[in-house]
Amino acid sequence: MIRLDSLSKQFGKTVVLDGIDLTIEKGEIVVIIGPSGTGKSTLLRCINFLEQPTAGTMTVGDLTVDVNHASRAEILSMRRRTAFVFQNYALFANKTALQNIAERLLVVDKWPKEKAYKRAREILQQIGLADKADAYPAAMSGGQQQRVGIGRAMATGAEVILFDEPTSSLDPEWVEEVLGLMKQLASERQTMMVVTHEMSFARDVADRVIFIDGGRIVEQGPPGEIFYNPKDPRTKDFLKKIL
Ligand code: ADP
Ligand code: MG
Repeated sequence: MIRLDSLSKQFGKTVVLDGIDLTIEKGEIVVIIGPSGTGKSTLLRCINFLEQPTAGTMTVGDLTVDVNHASRAEILSMRRRTAFVFQNYALFANKTALQNIAERLLVVDKWPKEKAYKRAREILQQIGLADKADAYPAAMSGGQQQRVGIGRAMATGAEVILFDEPTSSLDPEWVEEVLGLMKQLASERQTMMVVTHEMSFARDVADRVIFIDGGRIVEQGPPGEIFYNPKDPRTKDFLKKIL
């Protein structure tokens, strides 16, 4: 579903992603962990072309691009294959829950209005917020806003959903409802890449945990292996701090 070959990203002279090789299968749930400032967000943002990668090739579904020679149309097509869930929800403050979910369908995917709103209503049902269709973000809890953020990603039918610390901005009381929705998606085998510090989510849901440090994949494997039998001293050191 996703394949990265030597994906690199520099900001000026700073190397943030240092040749990432990674293959993710359809339906796989991958959790990415690692110290702060180590390139986790940049990796997700490069996959979505929110950042322009510096070098490498990238495949999503049946499209492969050399990141330096991708046409505008190819970049757009890559972007439409993935959907992003942001730490701070990134909802439009002046749009209702329904409009937030319909927005990309209308603007990016050019769906007719009626079809987009029908789809958005179905999604609101699925995320348990049918009664919030006309609510603005300010009138919703953090947990509800993030569920709308996830609903927006679901609505697109993207092949892969990229989650960047989706529960880090939430008050503790809302974390479980958001993780619950993510677990629901995982049980439907939606392909997901999730940067999170929620180790219980990683343990219960991930097929694979990837530990990143210094812009490189240091170690990866099933959660049981990474959490209880890490091989690399950097992984051990990181886990000691967070578990
Ligand atoms: P993580 O998500 O693992 O905490 P990030 O991917 O956000 O790490 O950042 C990795 C490094 O890249 C950091 O040193 C950060 O300062 C740098 N960085 C991220 N975005 C930018 C940017 N737009 N311009 C310059 N440096 C950036
Ligand atoms: Mg980050």
